Amino acid sequence: MKIAFYNFTELHTNEFKIRALDRIKKIIDESSFIEGEYNAKFEQEFAELQNAKNVLLVANGTDALEISLKAHGIGTGDRVAVSAITFFASAEAIVNVGAVPVMVDVNKNTGLMCPASLSRIMESYDIKAVMPVHIYGLPAPIQEIENICSSSNIPIIEDAAQAVGTHIYSGPVGSSNNLTTFSFYPTKNLSAFGDAGAICVADEELLEKIKLIRNHGRGPSGFERVGRNSRCDHIQAAILHLKLEDIASQNKKRKEIALYYREKLLQLDLRVPQLDLLEHSSCHLFPIGVKDEATKYKLKEHLAAQEIDSAAFYERTLLQEQPFTSCDGEDQGAQEFAQTTLCIPMNPYLHKEQLDKVVEEIEKFLQ
Ligand SMILES: *Cc1c(COP(=O)(O)O)cnc(C)c1O
Repeated sequence: MKIAFYNFTELHTNEFKIRALDRIKKIIDESSFIEGEYNAKFEQEFAELQNAKNVLLVANGTDALEISLKAHGIGTGDRVAVSAITFFASAEAIVNVGAVPVMVDVNKNTGLMCPASLSRIMESYDIKAVMPVHIYGLPAPIQEIENICSSSNIPIIEDAAQAVGTHIYSGPVGSSNNLTTFSFYPTKNLSAFGDAGAICVADEELLEKIKLIRNHGRGPSGFERVGRNSRCDHIQAAILHLKLEDIASQNKKRKEIALYYREKLLQLDLRVPQLDLLEHSSCHLFPIGVKDEATKYKLKEHLAAQEIDSAAFYERTLLQEQPFTSCDGEDQGAQEFAQTTLCIPMNPYLHKEQLDKVVEEIEKFLQ
């Protein structure tokens, strides 16, 4: 029984393909390739889903971070604190606006930004913005981070690229007053037929800035500033809008699968996500933790021999990535987390026999 990480065949059913092609044909017939009716529809309905004041579509999740930093006026030489466990793009966006990333350690059991580490970093450096990451869809401790940042008015940009379906203290991600960024890369919970991203924004001034930046700085009275091109194609918006119909039920299935995995794996000598975090998670991925790096690779091999996919997504902390080795920051907990974490198959179409097989093989390996 082959058990794959993703399942695009069941995501893109024949019925779905017919409806998607209908929309694409309409867009071709209208030649409405850039920012059409589905951009506006998606922005409105996604805002409702995330309980956000406003949503702006952009070209991808990395641009969403970069544009958010720019909207806050972050630029040359500014220091931005970022979680040491994340996809490379979080720090890349900081560097690409001319700013300098300072890595914040994570809780070694969750992979989420550690508030105590953030406090130390804020005391040692003049931090101009903070970027927590809802990694694997688990909710970062936003309320604690806000408490640390509020006295000095430091803006927070939540990287929610993996977090459509994640809830924080204020409701779904995007419902806080922070800028919150999403990616709709094809493997994410909500996915386009290529690249796309979005930003949730509550503040009206930031909203107007982001609108300008994503479209060459063009406003009602002409070019008002230097921006960039980060518009979202109409075809991508049309596909995303269509997929919104099923995202809630897909995320519900992910949650059921994650809770089933957790219950079964809890009895083994493993680290599994905490229940309170999992209950608020988009369950984008299901990370498990083993005792050391060698065990992780052996487990991966054991699963591969049984045709079970697994993936160690962040094998290095940001500070260990070659372009960032001379950056400042903390990553002791992050190193342990990176070394010992492996993700097992997670998609809404896994059925019970497959889940039981994954659990059984992990159990066999650990014995
Ligand atoms: C996917 C991802 C991104 C980048 O998104 P793109 O749409 O690929 O640019 C940024 N941060 C995190 C945490 C991600 O998982």
